[in-house]
Amino acid sequence: RFHQIRDKEITQEQHLGRGTRTNIYSGWLRVRGNSEDEEDDSYGGWNGNEGRSHDKGIRVVLKILDQSHRDIALAFFETASLMSQVSHSHLVFVHGVSVKGSENIMVEEFVEFGPLDVFLRRERGVVTPQWKFTVAKQLASALSYLESKHLVHGNVCCKNILVARKGLEEGTFPFVKLSDPGIAFSALSREERVERIPWIAPECVPNGARPGSTADQWGFGITLLEICNDGDLPMSEITLAEKERFYETQSHLPEPSSQELASFIRMCLNYDPTERPSFRTILRELTELQFKNPDISSKCDTHPG
Ligand code: ATP
Ligand code: MG
Repeated sequence: RFHQIRDKEITQEQHLGRGTRTNIYSGWLRVRGNSEDEEDDSYGGWNGNEGRSHDKGIRVVLKILDQSHRDIALAFFETASLMSQVSHSHLVFVHGVSVKGSENIMVEEFVEFGPLDVFLRRERGVVTPQWKFTVAKQLASALSYLESKHLVHGNVCCKNILVARKGLEEGTFPFVKLSDPGIAFSALSREERVERIPWIAPECVPNGARPGSTADQWGFGITLLEICNDGDLPMSEITLAEKERFYETQSHLPEPSSQELASFIRMCLNYDPTERPSFRTILRELTELQFKNPDISSKCDTHPG
């Protein structure tokens, strides 16, 4: 249930990084009317050649799945299919999948300013509380949309939020898009699930059961903490065993100094999934919070407490 892209329609360029069993490259997707073998150049002269700056097509990201078992490939297609069913301004656009020999490639929209965690670390002290609330609301609106369709993302974190517009100048606003969740949850190993602590909902660690929307509410809460804390969480340096222990003891990360914000985040980070608020509620409360404009910066120290 996704668009099949022919191998010769895509061009691969520089390596951007590695994800969960993937390698990511920037690249180009040739679009109809832009292909070399179509003679559209004759009437393309209206803008001169300098206007055809995108001869190669449109800029995309190519997510190449590692050589893997059929089950993993199916889990990858499952995500491509999920993303192809949805349409929301704050969800990344997936063009389709290309199968090139034994390589499976997800072709998705290239989002110019990269992942939010890197952006926040780089622009520390520059982004305002209002900027952060705007981003949080955009994320909540995408997740509220998924919730209304009974769809689950399952991999919400700052790394998977991409910055399309910086919005750092006076009078401008940021614009972010939630990326695809990568290989479907069901195909993750136990170790991969433990690595995803604290973003993964606690109930999803032990058995790898298919997560519900409530799992995204937990992920949202952690992501909000990450945003408060300029793209960092105090758990990055701890071992897998310590991560497991953190959930077993139902621990909590340090909260932001604002009482209102802290209690809002605590609602999302409830160890009982049934107690977490729906995204409709989250969106409403965020709007109120943004209006009150509390101090969103976090006094997190480097050790979880
Ligand atoms: P995971 O499923 O764990 O999220 P992934 O395959 O999505 O894995 P990421 O780690 O999320 O991989 O992404 C790797 C890097 O690729 C990111 O840090 C970012 O720099 C880049 N990247 C990913 N998607 C995009 C995109 N749509 N536009 C621009 N850059 C991107
Ligand atoms: Mg990703």
